[in-house]
Amino acid sequence: MSLFLSLKSVESAKITLKSIAGKKETEITDLTESHRRTLAEDITSPMDLPGFSRSIVDGYAVFSRDTLGASESLPAMPDYTGRVEMGQPAAFEIKPGSCAYVPTGGNVPDGADAVAMIEYCEEIGDQVLIYRPMADGENIVFANEDFAESEVVLKAGTTLRPQECGVLAALGFLKISVFRRPVVGIISTGNELVPVGEVPGFGKVRDVNSMLCSGFAEKHGCIPKRYGIVADDRQTLFSAVKTAAEECDIVLISGGSSKDLRDNTSLIIDELGEVLIHGIAISPGKPTIIGKALEKPVIGLPGHPASAYVVLHILISELLEAYRDREAEFSTKNMTLTQNISSAQGREDYIRVKITPDGAVPVFGKSGLLNTLINSDGVLKIPAGSEGLEAGENVEVILW
Ligand code: AMP
Ligand code: MG
Repeated sequence: MSLFLSLKSVESAKITLKSIAGKKETEITDLTESHRRTLAEDITSPMDLPGFSRSIVDGYAVFSRDTLGASESLPAMPDYTGRVEMGQPAAFEIKPGSCAYVPTGGNVPDGADAVAMIEYCEEIGDQVLIYRPMADGENIVFANEDFAESEVVLKAGTTLRPQECGVLAALGFLKISVFRRPVVGIISTGNELVPVGEVPGFGKVRDVNSMLCSGFAEKHGCIPKRYGIVADDRQTLFSAVKTAAEECDIVLISGGSSKDLRDNTSLIIDELGEVLIHGIAISPGKPTIIGKALEKPVIGLPGHPASAYVVLHILISELLEAYRDREAEFSTKNMTLTQNISSAQGREDYIRVKITPDGAVPVFGKSGLLNTLINSDGVLKIPAGSEGLEAGENVEVILW
């Protein structure tokens, strides 16, 4: 067995990741549980919304023509005919030369085509003085102006934010068809790892990757299932990976992904299925494994948390997003680079950067440091064929 990895390009790794994603499945969820879920079907409005003409101000519903040329010195003077109650249909029509009081959100009576704001009106006896001319439709939301019946309001694939949940409430959707959230099994390997609640002895470190991977899985709409720390022991890791592959849709294993003699991950994936890629032309993250165990996607991540996170963010997001029928989307920001960065050709380099008023500042740090994870706002890609970037260049920061 060669101790060298044969490296695949980032592009081919992404294609492999999408090809091994399991089936997208859908389920019905309650509206109250729908925040951050992803729609599996288009949402079509079952009705006109608001469904009735509605005033957007407190004021007087009028015929706009009656207010033509109205001014402070020569107000329009329609007759006052009554008041519309909030939450009730208007019980009367407005005829030319008359008006009625309507509260904000109240039904504008038939006949009226504008509502004059109360601030520009004055009730005197049976008449209302209106000191401004009104335009046709002013201060009215019409019956289907928000959403019309049968209109597609939200597209399948939309991840629901509070705003969308509110609109679904307005349209009366109590149950919604969404993509099932895949369960992501998370295993941390390494004899040096201790659980978070333990004080690490000399040479030991706390398990960072379980939390890193769980948060990442949730961020991409998945349910994390942590299997804890597994020692660098072939039999123990075999059992853990087998159980995780049986119980989950996807398995993430961190650590032990290189070709050191203690690195068991690729051997175990081979026993339980197949290793499709071992080694990617990406830095950090070269010793990443992509494979299948019991027909489920299994990923071997580098142990260094910062490297693992770059691989998760840049590559594994493609796999997780496939379960809700989406491609990984990256928020980006164009900025000026503040200093030169050199890069080896033949691999995609992802340099952590901090966004500052002066531009994108590279955050250099030895691999293994955790501080770069929280001191950076994102990464900068240096393509495989490039020797580096120069200070002053305009660059695109891929935000974390
Ligand atoms: P490995 O990929 O197993 O060779 O690990 C590379 C480095 O990452 C080693 O210094 C490990 O101690 C560290 N490492 C591996 N897994 C974790 C983890 N879950 N949390 C923190 N550090 C880890
Ligand atoms: Mg290890």
